[in-house]
Amino acid sequence: MPRQGKLESGDQAAPLRTCVGCRVRTVKSELLRLVVVDGVIVPDLRGRLPGRGASLHPSSGCLELAERRRAFSRAFRAQGALDVARLRAHLEGLD
Ligand SMILES: [Zn+2]
Repeated sequence: MPRQGKLESGDQAAPLRTCVGCRVRTVKSELLRLVVVDGVIVPDLRGRLPGRGASLHPSSGCLELAERRRAFSRAFRAQGALDVARLRAHLEGLD
């Protein structure tokens, strides 16, 4: 993943996000932003997709945790089931 070219030393205000899988709070840049497009969870690799996002460590372990806890439905306030196949394929490609 390319670094966002900001060199602000001593910046205490780095944005924090909570992983919807393991619930660990960490800097945004460590997490993968996810959005839902037509009921499908997709990784927002460029951070540009509109809509409600959720954050997840880029690991299939955290994906499993999130699924088990139904964290995605909550995070996205989805009424129906969400398709994680595309996200899983992406994460498995990383492992
Ligand atoms: Zn995690």
